[in-house]
Amino acid sequence: MTSLAERAHAAAVFIRHNTAISPHGAYRGEEHARTAVRLAAALGLGLDQITTEPDWLRRRTTPGEPVLATATCPDTNQKYVFLARFPIYDDEAFELLGPCPECSGQVPRALVRHLADLGTYLARPPLRPGDIPEADTVPDTFSVDEGHTSTCRYGAVL
Ligand SMILES: [Zn+2]
Repeated sequence: MTSLAERAHAAAVFIRHNTAISPHGAYRGEEHARTAVRLAAALGLGLDQITTEPDWLRRRTTPGEPVLATATCPDTNQKYVFLARFPIYDDEAFELLGPCPECSGQVPRALVRHLADLGTYLARPPLRPGDIPEADTVPDTFSVDEGHTSTCRYGAVL
């Protein structure tokens, strides 16, 4: 078991290193690295089990473009994709992406701040086509997310 001081040092080195080498520039690199550290801590995973990439579907031109962070389970290799919609605000919950019951697009299905939020989501039965998600079981962003297809009845009407 690694000491707290060693893990803290490793997290700081991880952020410095990834800020310096990011192909997306230093600002975005730091946002990606901080997002990875925050998600790893929230889920109790190692930094080597988190990968990040820009979210081209939800990108904005304002500072703090959204980041997709994928957590891979070390036991089952199952992947969970989390959206940090505003990565510069590190007190915001992650949005766990999952299939829309209507269009199968990857859309926000749960707000996750810590491991128990993921556990609550996983304990729910899956949504089926025709299900109308209860307001308290999907994030507010579910119905306006860019992940829906253009014909999905849940997607934002532009
Ligand atoms: Zn949809």
